[in-house]
Amino acid sequence: MSTRLILATRNQHKVAELRAILTDAGLDVELVGADAYPEIPDVPETGVTFAENALLKAHALARATGLPAVADDSGLCVDVLNGAPGIFSARWSGKHGDDLANLDLLLAQLSDIAEPHRGAHFFCAAALALPDGTERVVEGRLLGTLRAAPAGTNGFGYDPILQPLGDTRTCAELTADEKNAISHRGQAFRALAPVVKALIG
Ligand code: IMP
Repeated sequence: MSTRLILATRNQHKVAELRAILTDAGLDVELVGADAYPEIPDVPETGVTFAENALLKAHALARATGLPAVADDSGLCVDVLNGAPGIFSARWSGKHGDDLANLDLLLAQLSDIAEPHRGAHFFCAAALALPDGTERVVEGRLLGTLRAAPAGTNGFGYDPILQPLGDTRTCAELTADEKNAISHRGQAFRALAPVVKALIG
């Protein structure tokens, strides 16, 4: 029987993305999202780094269910802002999850910054925690530059303003498959597959 592994998200796209990566890596695990355990409350993200927040979420879920758990935490890090919005990416404008307001505020803050200084990257930390407290963290980055104005309608968050290095399109102009192939989360999840295999596969 395959081992059950929980991913700390209610986003089915994330579950499908990690499931495909684990299957490609030849792993026999049954991946389910946190919505399979609706009685377990979300954990406040009180960490000050992406890795801390990913670990907090993975440990809480592993403790509550007695099963191995994976969690990820990600955001946009802007060079000229010393890595901000960083862990505050989802609530940069004050209100959690207001993608449009977050993006507008960031563009306004960077309005005087010339193109050569608009470097930024998406960052993702992905953590695996076992019920016995064993933990591992891996990371992924998508390097790029920030456009002065949004372009594209795919994706979410800051996708319309991040242009990956080596591309002429923003992340919001890529297809979901093109984005997953290069994304910070895709890289972190692919780095996690051998770790999952070694510990529970
Ligand atoms: P989460 O940790 O995946 O929930 O991401 C936190 C926040 O970071 C999101 O609300 C977005 O603002 C931003 N973010 C993370 N990943 C991406 C991405 O792939 N594209 C655009 N924005 C992202």
